[in-house]
Amino acid sequence: AFPPAEGLTRTTCGYCGVGCALDVVTRDGEVTAVLPARDGPVNRGHACVKGRFSHGFRTSPERLTRPLLRRDGVLEPAGWDEALAHVARGLRAAVDAGGPDAVAAISSARATNEENYLVQKFMRVVIGTNNVDNCSRLCHSPSAAGLTASFGLSGGTDVFDDVERADCLLVVGANPVEAHPVVGARLLRQVLRGARLVVADPRAVGLALHADVHLRPRPGTNVALFHGLAHVLLAEGLIDEEFLRERATGLPELTELLADHPPDRVADLTGVPAADLVAAARLYGGAERPAIVYGLGVTEHLHGTDGVRSLSNLAILRGAVGTDRGYGVNPLRGQNNVQGASDMGALPDLLPGYGKVADAAVRSRAEDVWGVPVPPRPGLRIPDMFAAARAGALRALWIVGEDVLATDPDTRQVARALDACPLVVCNELFLSETARHADVVLPAASWLEKDGTFVNFDRRFQRVRPAVPPPGQARSDFDILRAVAEAMGAGLGCPAPADALAECGRLAPVFAGLSHDRLDREGAVPWPCPTPHGPGEAKLYTERFATPDGRAHLAAPPCLPPGERPDDDYPLLLVTGRRWAHYNSGSMTRRGGNLALDPVDFLDLHSDDACRYGLRDGQGVTVESRHGRARLVARVGEQTAPGQVFCSFHFPASGVNRLTSGVADTVTSCPEYKVTAVRVAAS
Ligand code: SF4
Repeated sequence: AFPPAEGLTRTTCGYCGVGCALDVVTRDGEVTAVLPARDGPVNRGHACVKGRFSHGFRTSPERLTRPLLRRDGVLEPAGWDEALAHVARGLRAAVDAGGPDAVAAISSARATNEENYLVQKFMRVVIGTNNVDNCSRLCHSPSAAGLTASFGLSGGTDVFDDVERADCLLVVGANPVEAHPVVGARLLRQVLRGARLVVADPRAVGLALHADVHLRPRPGTNVALFHGLAHVLLAEGLIDEEFLRERATGLPELTELLADHPPDRVADLTGVPAADLVAAARLYGGAERPAIVYGLGVTEHLHGTDGVRSLSNLAILRGAVGTDRGYGVNPLRGQNNVQGASDMGALPDLLPGYGKVADAAVRSRAEDVWGVPVPPRPGLRIPDMFAAARAGALRALWIVGEDVLATDPDTRQVARALDACPLVVCNELFLSETARHADVVLPAASWLEKDGTFVNFDRRFQRVRPAVPPPGQARSDFDILRAVAEAMGAGLGCPAPADALAECGRLAPVFAGLSHDRLDREGAVPWPCPTPHGPGEAKLYTERFATPDGRAHLAAPPCLPPGERPDDDYPLLLVTGRRWAHYNSGSMTRRGGNLALDPVDFLDLHSDDACRYGLRDGQGVTVESRHGRARLVARVGEQTAPGQVFCSFHFPASGVNRLTSGVADTVTSCPEYKVTAVRVAAS
């Protein structure tokens, strides 16, 4: 049942991970405006141009409104019954030919928590495999691994309302002014009120203009930078000895390692002047209530998990996590529900609530709820799915809302995988780059058209409500998953999204206190939330850390070089990231009105490099890496450091991810998007 054709619907933004509450105005069954909710728990009356103006995609003539089936090499319209039967037959054939592990699914932040829950349940219960992963593999999987190893849970340690009380902010590898604008504005307000600000980022991002110290490490040298800061904290006694004695482990090993990381050596390793490093460490170390906020500039590296852990060391050394002496370590999630996709267990090694699939006791709790055995062997991660498809071992791949051919690295290899896989099914809003390679395309509902919940960057569950119905025959991913299960003669249970969240709470105690009814009453509730009447834990670890020994764990990873390095043939380093008006592959924002605000994909380069390579501002350029070629427009300025170039991934037509490599974090397989060696020339 949809709300009246004319009305106001409170929902949660479907773009970045801030999770702004929005009021969607509708008239005659169409969205006419999107307004920031004055009482929004996170945004409090604010929103950015993405949330405000990018709803026009809904009525784009390119919107998919009917299923498409590939016949004789061409995607043609089909009825739902035919499409569902085709998918069911194809999945059964894949299992018959190669067993359950010949099937895999990729879920995403486009899906609600309830949809992510059903994706992983479908794979584990109907197919019988753990081959399910989600887009966090490409962004914050090192956060999940690193924060869990350091503190015990995968989420940020504090909620943003607390971070706002910090008197010193260390913002690392993030550009919140553009990528998370409401958080960017709140951070700036904090600075205007007197908080000290240290920014660590190779680029002169918006916040850096207001920083007390801006550290500009060479891409790929984060671990050395964080060790250098930790060295100064130790050397100058800016540590909390009681906290380290009572609540942490690993200090002797870290102390030994840091002896080799004095500021002068770290300056050589990172390019950051030793005086700046010392000044930054003194600001963070001397603050009464410091906080760390970070983004993908920390995670998307060959040693991304080491980066998260060595950054977390700073908060542990200061006793600024799990205490009233600081506000911990807080990842800014790039996508609306990337936290929730992992929370719901759309991961190859973890069930909902982060219980290990290899742990018999964890499996048994899920088996009690689902009534079937759960396979014990962890499944494939996304890059391994593509490798298995290229090798002929993966025979069916279901992709729910992720445009892997636009956003994954080294897309030529991704295309080869999709072409080699006998059945590729896509749930999509548009005929994306990936959908063009699919055998079946199922038209999906957008965030404005469906019911459920998202989890934002600081672990808060909020409701998603349909303001308008999906266009044509499009359906929610939730309905599509249930329909495919039925077509296979299986049941997924959970007739409505509220039932899925309730079922998830039965097998994952950290979500047991959450329900749609409660969120309708209270607005936003953070996890862990084990009881229906408890408030949910905003600040984590006040009693003990969630590690097996209850302590925070300092790490002592070595400084290792990045996977790609410049040479005579490829002398520049490319960093990719986000821009203010667009979101991810841009499939919604480019069709939603924001194209007029930000119409062209630029390659930002420093004026010294423009001179060196004879390039002018506004000129077309060809960018080549060891993996592929892209075409962009040069934008000459000082924001990017000499020797580095920057572009977004919002315009798939540019082919930016043909440039990026298959190099990935050694722990989590998160791609090294932040370090690609390239050359540029006029095109
Ligand atoms: Fe808020 Fe992010 Fe949506 Fe902008 S994109 S309105 S900052 S949630």
